Amino acid sequence: MRTPLIAGNWKMNGSAALIESFGKTFASAALPANIDVVVIPPFPYLDAARHAFSNTPLQLGAQTLNPHHSGAHTGEVSGSMLKEFGVAYVLVGHSERRQLYRESDEQVFDRLLAALDTGLTPILCVGETLEERDAGRTMDVVLRQVGYIMARLAPEQRLQIVIAYEPVWAIGTGRTATPEQAQEVMAGIRAYQAGFDASLAEQLKLLYGGSMNASNAAELLAQPDIDGGLVGGASLKTDDFYAICQSA
Ligand code: PGA
Repeated sequence: MRTPLIAGNWKMNGSAALIESFGKTFASAALPANIDVVVIPPFPYLDAARHAFSNTPLQLGAQTLNPHHSGAHTGEVSGSMLKEFGVAYVLVGHSERRQLYRESDEQVFDRLLAALDTGLTPILCVGETLEERDAGRTMDVVLRQVGYIMARLAPEQRLQIVIAYEPVWAIGTGRTATPEQAQEVMAGIRAYQAGFDASLAEQLKLLYGGSMNASNAAELLAQPDIDGGLVGGASLKTDDFYAICQSA
């Protein structure tokens, strides 16, 4: 019932050559029917990607956005600009933004709201650190991050977001959460949403992120509450990313 979504977060990586390689591979792609595949390159590549992907099923995402629509915000990019370049999805609250750029829950919420206002689908990233997991606080941390956002949204807005659970200790470390660990948290997020609305909980798309690759994707994606993946490192190799999409 929930369409699988595989998103490749290139972070501050990639090149014009990688865009071209994705365009070529996915133009003749034999993907499963009914799957959304999103590539999330750095801003400067968005326009080239839009052209290179025009004959492919690939959709475009952006890695962040400024909450303002325009104005004196040197170095920033707004949702309406992204929209103009064919972007459909945008990441908010990625742990690298939270940690390296000190984005607070409040700032994450402002960005998410700006995304909804401009008609972009926000992918809200949440996840615990290793210290928090070891202290047995995983569910508390994740539900606090999710709850901060959900409590401030109108019921119809809650249906327009995607949530990516990305344990911080699994991001870029090669240490993937086990399918059982990931499923447990996903089920907790879905159960929490049921507190707002049972049909929201059923419809909400939940992605797993953190060292997902071509060998472990199928097992993770087979979990009942995992609807897709947010892939970092493995999305920088066309064949690996293609293989992950095929296992969805
Ligand atoms: P990773 O990154 O797949 O390289 O662990 C995932 C992410 O940060 O979204």
